[in-house]
Amino acid sequence: MNKTVFSPPPFTTIAIKDSELRFPVRRVFCAGRNYADHVTEMGGTVNTNPPVIFAKPADALVVDGHNVPYPRVCNDLHHEVELVLALGKPLKQASKAQAENAVFGLAVGVDLTRRDLQAQAKKHAGPWTSAKAFDSSAPIGKITPLGTPLGHLSGRINLSVNGQQRQNGDLAQMLWPPVSLLMHLSELFDLKPGDLVFTGTPAGVGPLHVGDQVEAHAHGTETLKFKVI
Ligand code: MN
Repeated sequence: MNKTVFSPPPFTTIAIKDSELRFPVRRVFCAGRNYADHVTEMGGTVNTNPPVIFAKPADALVVDGHNVPYPRVCNDLHHEVELVLALGKPLKQASKAQAENAVFGLAVGVDLTRRDLQAQAKKHAGPWTSAKAFDSSAPIGKITPLGTPLGHLSGRINLSVNGQQRQNGDLAQMLWPPVSLLMHLSELFDLKPGDLVFTGTPAGVGPLHVGDQVEAHAHGTETLKFKVI
């Protein structure tokens, strides 16, 4: 084995419901503008174009209900509750059946966003990296294994802050449902086991502050709770 100049970083793993095994994460892809009511609240126009695709580093995930530090260089941190697909099989230019059978399980996650930096980036048509891919920007709950091919999903997706509901939608509202989204992503990238896909957020995004207790839920997944410190 080749020796390295320092120890390689550990890879992120996520707890799996009713299992002692954990899910090893490879990459984190995210879809933006995938619920019409959120597109509208951000001042956008709903269309049938593929969703915006961006990525976060795997070590931006916050697992096991750990606290989330309020990020530096930010005065407007926003929550975006999202269903997350965890891939157990590779997907390259996938058919519908291949996409349906590649998902290992589902989780709920929160795509934390420096909304102030994102607004600046949009103004200059610049990349969203600083707004989206910062440290601890992706709290995620336990993965619930699917066991069956991924079908059309419906059911509540919601988020509350300090017990007050902020976001409330339905998984069936996705403009690009999970299987279509995976087929699209697999045209752009060679997806591999361990890749995660955040599938976009419904309306009701808003600011978080230090001390806030966040609870996120998506139908068919384990509830995620974390505190902003
Ligand atoms: Mn998002």
